[in-house]
Amino acid sequence: IPNRFAGATVVVTGAGSGIGKATATRLLAEGARVIASDLDAERLDALSVEVGDLPLTTVVGDVSDDAVIAQIVEVGEGRITGLVNNAGIMDAFVPTAEIDDALWERVLRINVTAPMKLMRAVLPAMVEAGHGRIVNVASEASIRAGASGTPYATSKHAVVGLTKSTALFYGPAGVRVNAVAPGAVATNIEAPFRSELGAQRLGPIMQATVPAPATAEQLAASITWLLSEDSANVNGALLMSDGGWSTI
Ligand code: NAD
Repeated sequence: IPNRFAGATVVVTGAGSGIGKATATRLLAEGARVIASDLDAERLDALSVEVGDLPLTTVVGDVSDDAVIAQIVEVGEGRITGLVNNAGIMDAFVPTAEIDDALWERVLRINVTAPMKLMRAVLPAMVEAGHGRIVNVASEASIRAGASGTPYATSKHAVVGLTKSTALFYGPAGVRVNAVAPGAVATNIEAPFRSELGAQRLGPIMQATVPAPATAEQLAASITWLLSEDSANVNGALLMSDGGWSTI
């Protein structure tokens, strides 16, 4: 394994499970210091045990909470060079007429507002350093409707606008901001490709188009590529990492 991230300090949200955990593990293996955030303290404890002596700092709490964001910045001590806005939640495949306000607000808060607030919090130090790398985790639901209910599709479309706009404003300052769109990935999230509710709500046609699920490690490879210098000329991009699902 190359040592692409020596000297980097990277924040990964939702690092207790799935794509976030695989990304944090890969970054640590390649020399980064990682600040891992998750709602779930037990999952973060398990990650700490798995990575042993590698430089991992954990922050427990809801990443849409201002106090948790302040804590992440504080443990970063002004040295945060990378951010992976990965924490996200699904929406139980809810169609528009059935959305209740609490679900709508929760999905938008965690999937859109939290990434905005975290970028807002880490950008000043990145601009001062003239260097920063941000990856926002979007979704197949960023480009089509058939992968989720309405709140989630809306939130993940918004992640693309958030990514492009931030890339436009901060690219000249040396900060690259990209998004990765996972298709089906085997994690703990309730996704349509394996759920009965997904089949009921979205129908068999959508389910039949979904390719075999990717591994979280495959997504970590795409995310760390966007964080690395191999993607030096890429800014504001939405990288489909979906096994070709979007070609159908
Ligand atoms: P996962 O449920 O396995 O892991 C997500 C982690 O985020 C969990 O440990 C959870 O506790 C944490 N989390 C959730 N809300 C949080 C909050 N408010 N604050 C802090 N931590 C929080 O899910 P995953 O599949 O690895 O999902 C990661 C990202 O990938 C999400 O943004 C999701 O929308 C996106 N995604 C996943 C798939 C898929 O098929 N798995 C497809 C497209 C996009």
